[in-house]
Amino acid sequence: MPLAIGSAPFRSRTGRRSIERHVAVRRGGSALSNGNGRHGTPPPPSNGSVHRDRSTALRITRALEKAWGVPQPRRRALAPLDALVATILSQHTSDANSARAYRELKRRFPRWGLVAGSSPEDIAEAIRCGGLADQKALRIHQILQGLDGRFDMRQLRRMPNETALEHLCALDGVGIKTAACVLLFSLGRDVFPVDVHVHRVLTRVGLAHNSKSPEQTYERMVPAIPPGRAYSLHVNLVRLGRSLCRPTRPQCRRCPLLSMCSFASGKENPRVSRGALNR
Ligand code: SF4
Repeated sequence: MPLAIGSAPFRSRTGRRSIERHVAVRRGGSALSNGNGRHGTPPPPSNGSVHRDRSTALRITRALEKAWGVPQPRRRALAPLDALVATILSQHTSDANSARAYRELKRRFPRWGLVAGSSPEDIAEAIRCGGLADQKALRIHQILQGLDGRFDMRQLRRMPNETALEHLCALDGVGIKTAACVLLFSLGRDVFPVDVHVHRVLTRVGLAHNSKSPEQTYERMVPAIPPGRAYSLHVNLVRLGRSLCRPTRPQCRRCPLLSMCSFASGKENPRVSRGALNR
């Protein structure tokens, strides 16, 4: 049965786990962990470590804003479903290619109802230039089918953050990162998405050093984000992860976070960091 935003129960176990964790962390607990880190979920942070995380997150935010400025949101934000599809198209490709794929999708299918009524193969054909077209087309098709014609997703605008995240994560094919991107980029909410770039930088800096996945880093960051700075911190960290703090050969000497980075100071990985600083 198709899912109607605003009224349906969860259908995605992964999504439910993510949002349960999200809500639990906001309340100071963990829905899935028994407190000793089983299920791959670390125990909830103590008050002391939350305080330290907040202070570190604020220093990182300020350092990046000082170096690169305060990023400004687009004047006209995308509608929620447009932002959701654009987020899926942006995965594992460049901004230029994902923008081309999005434009081509909209050109071939001017209304979301037309995309929902087409086949995954036709969608894949339209977004071929964005990479991973077959997987992305399946997800987009699945999501649109699940919306059952309610493509404006207008209920999201009236919901508090947790409820809106919950409803998005209930859609098959939508995880916590994609849901958080919709809230941040479309609805202008103070929510902090964690993608692979943000996860890599934050684990290296030492803020989420024991985190095993972007989802865990997201949970860790929920109570730490300086109020009103989620957009700035997210955009600047993605920029840092793409430009300087790449998976291999990070350019530490040019990094605005050099003085506070555990990786560069050798605390995390002395061998790699010496190499990085010697370049
Ligand atoms: S100092 Fe190096 S490892 Fe640390 S965040 Fe910057 S680029 Fe990444």
